[in-house]
Amino acid sequence: MSTIDRRAFLAVSAGSVGLLGAIPLATPHRSRTSPRRPVIISSRNGMPAVTRAMERIRQGTDLLEAIVEGIGLVESDPNDMSVGYGGLPNEDGVVELDASVMHGPTHKSGAVAALQGIRNPARVALEVLRRTDHVLLVGAGALKFAKAVGFTEEDLLTDRARKAWLGWKASLSPHDDWLDAEQQVDTSGKASGGGPPPDVPFTDGTIHVSAVDPRGDMAACTSTSGLSYKLSGRVGDSPIVGAGMFVDNAVGAAGATGRGESVIQSAGAFQAVRHMAEGLEPTEACLKVLTWIADHTRRHDLVNDRGEPRFGVVMYALRADGLWGSATMRKGRTFTVHDGTEARSEPCAYLYE
Ligand code: ASP
Repeated sequence: MSTIDRRAFLAVSAGSVGLLGAIPLATPHRSRTSPRRPVIISSRNGMPAVTRAMERIRQGTDLLEAIVEGIGLVESDPNDMSVGYGGLPNEDGVVELDASVMHGPTHKSGAVAALQGIRNPARVALEVLRRTDHVLLVGAGALKFAKAVGFTEEDLLTDRARKAWLGWKASLSPHDDWLDAEQQVDTSGKASGGGPPPDVPFTDGTIHVSAVDPRGDMAACTSTSGLSYKLSGRVGDSPIVGAGMFVDNAVGAAGATGRGESVIQSAGAFQAVRHMAEGLEPTEACLKVLTWIADHTRRHDLVNDRGEPRFGVVMYALRADGLWGSATMRKGRTFTVHDGTEARSEPCAYLYE
């Protein structure tokens, strides 16, 4: 499908429909109060994070510190299997975490990738920003740094995540040596038969937060356990500055969740911020990045018979004046906004029905 045809699918949720570039998009989402109120946007799992970050900003805590503290709540939550402690592991059953942070006023960033054994990678990324002249530490080096600055190493694999990983291994192939639910031997004395196949969750998540404070300064952070059952050492977009998040303090902040390979290959967050610099509103900027990703997805196994990407990507964008937006590849996602008065879920604009 050509770009022009595909754009006919562009639609903006929340009751308005538009063609990118041809018909105006949704009414701008602006902070309903003063643009000098703090505004925080986040992925759909970000409600605790934006609530805590807003409390801290109001108490005068540094913006990036406030965001990282908020994200820490989600990273430490064993029930969020896409981030931090309790995140789904890689193919070897090891939890490997990625995170990045960026501080608008100093235009400095910090990141860690393939970090094992530390539940709050966003905070380690903040320490990389604060304490080093580097941007990105990976693997064993990132763990060594984290321990040196006082983080405690622990096993991040919860029982629930381990069982999910075992279920994934068992359902890989009927020809390997792991018996799936149908094949497993019942020694309990009850009738055998295996039971239903295990419900194997896959990560469809990551947490991103972008924020602007009352002075108009901006910051962003993205943290994830990455794609579940990924190859050991695989790094996604979340710790890549310009892909998983990016800030230009004079323009805006942006971030991404979803298929990291596609976001890296499109410099997703950087593109979104550049589109805002060129005058697009945040929702338009997000949709334009998604259109670019769709137009550059060439592998047949990644598109359906209409040529549309089979995978999900969600873009988030916040302009320095407090205008915000988010868009997803396919209808049906929400994101989180705290506009200085309340925290709430909002529907994402979308590229395809
Ligand atoms: N973006 C993350 C990654 O590719 C995964 C996700 O957001 O679902 O590592």
